[in-house]
Amino acid sequence: MKIIITERQADKLFGDKIVCKKCDHSWKIRKNDDHPFICNICGWDQKVKRYKNKELLKFWKSYE
Ligand SMILES: [Zn+2]
Repeated sequence: MKIIITERQADKLFGDKIVCKKCDHSWKIRKNDDHPFICNICGWDQKVKRYKNKELLKFWKSYE
């Protein structure tokens, strides 16, 4: 039997979603992510509460 859950339910179950306090962008923590607390949109680090523009640049460069 296949169980289908909504994204909202999944968030409750796994509870590892982070919401950026600066731009409301949200994402899930990935285990292989070097900087799981940095917002990929604006570069705000939820943990140290500071913009990490260098890390943000690195993130986007990894897509090239
Ligand atoms: Zn953000």
